[in-house]
Amino acid sequence: MTRMLIIGPPGSGKGTQAERISERLGVVAISTGDIFRANVKGETPLGIEAKKYMDAGDFVPDSVTNKMVRDRLTEDDVEVGFLLDGYPRTTAQVDYLDAILADGDQKLDVVLQLTADDEELVKRLLGRAKETGRSDDNEAVIRHRLDLYHGQTEAVVAKYADRGILTQVDGIGGIDEVTDRVMQAIKAAQSA
Ligand code: AMP
Repeated sequence: MTRMLIIGPPGSGKGTQAERISERLGVVAISTGDIFRANVKGETPLGIEAKKYMDAGDFVPDSVTNKMVRDRLTEDDVEVGFLLDGYPRTTAQVDYLDAILADGDQKLDVVLQLTADDEELVKRLLGRAKETGRSDDNEAVIRHRLDLYHGQTEAVVAKYADRGILTQVDGIGGIDEVTDRVMQAIKAAQSA
């Protein structure tokens, strides 16, 4: 049983690593970005609401995001643990997640932060934009997303560091190499 978060700036490869961790630990990876993108694709009311924020590189409002996460965390597959990818991104979301977990008498085991240099991230994301055509991958929007990460999500990281459950991993390198580092860091954190 593992309940964990993966946090990292846009382009740090957190989605890719989340899938691998999920397979290896046998827990479901829940990506708020993926849930939003699926809703945008399906043109659901949630997707239509979220799209305008996503395209601008802004955070979708907490009123939408928090409820979506709460609903997802009541599904049966999270009973054996979960890996949240991309949530919480603000300290208000940390408080909300704390309340969800407290309701279920649960706590987080590990918070993993993937680190990478901004210029490397911009380079990677511009490359991804060409391959996938993601509508939030142009340079101005990428830089805005990075600014939000530094301005808001680093405060989230600091909160978990204060609680002593943060572990940081260098996200620069080959995908397999980073996965090895990540799995080692999780193992070390769990046996600490
Ligand atoms: P991601 O795939 O994690 O980079 O997320 C893509 C986009 O979805 C973000 O740029 C936000 O617009 C939105 N999003 C994902 N997670 C959150 C969150 N926790 N809070 C607010 N917006 C989010």
